Amino acid sequence: MARYTGPVCKLCRREGEKLFLKGERCFSPKCAIERRNYPPGPHGRASQWRRSRESDFGKQLRAKQKARRVYGVLERQFRRYYREAIKSRGLTGLTMLQLLESRLDNVIYRMGFASSRAQARQLVAHGHFVVNGRRTDVPSMLIKEGDVIEVREGSRGNVYFKELPDFAKGQTPPEWVERDIKKLSGGIKRMPERQEIDANLNEQLIVEFYSR
Ligand code: SF4
Repeated sequence: MARYTGPVCKLCRREGEKLFLKGERCFSPKCAIERRNYPPGPHGRASQWRRSRESDFGKQLRAKQKARRVYGVLERQFRRYYREAIKSRGLTGLTMLQLLESRLDNVIYRMGFASSRAQARQLVAHGHFVVNGRRTDVPSMLIKEGDVIEVREGSRGNVYFKELPDFAKGQTPPEWVERDIKKLSGGIKRMPERQEIDANLNEQLIVEFYSR
């Protein structure tokens, strides 16, 4: 299970916007974008002007990188979602985003059971969740309508999960996600519509990038 292990705030600075990869810190003055909103590296400040003069390829690349970073997916797997989406009958860009949204780590984050996708991914990797009664440690598992995600019985005594109901109450899940805070369980009611997925992702540019 490969994943990016470098400094995540650099990724936001590279994209020039908050990608909300670090949970609560993203809403505090400690956020790197609040303090240094220019690309990382020794020439970061000087290269800021280039953003407004990007080529079409540059824009497509940035759109793809941003989506990849938001969902914490490496290139090979991200390309796999694109290939999967081409095979489907729906709109390629939307289907691709729906596949990303239905990943187990993302659904747990959307349920409000983790403060970031990275944290959700770690909780899954540590085996704290069961899907349809079976323990899983695969964050990329795709969740379908009717699947039941629950905190594993043996993990419920863990301090994190004891405090989770209080945390989760402050997080409102989107319409397409269901959850039961008392039972520490949830799932998806249906696939999200486009307007229910982050508006600042440009799936059209991503499709153009891969279909060059
Ligand atoms: Fe991005 Fe969050 Fe780091 Fe701010 S604190 S730069 S939003 S990951």
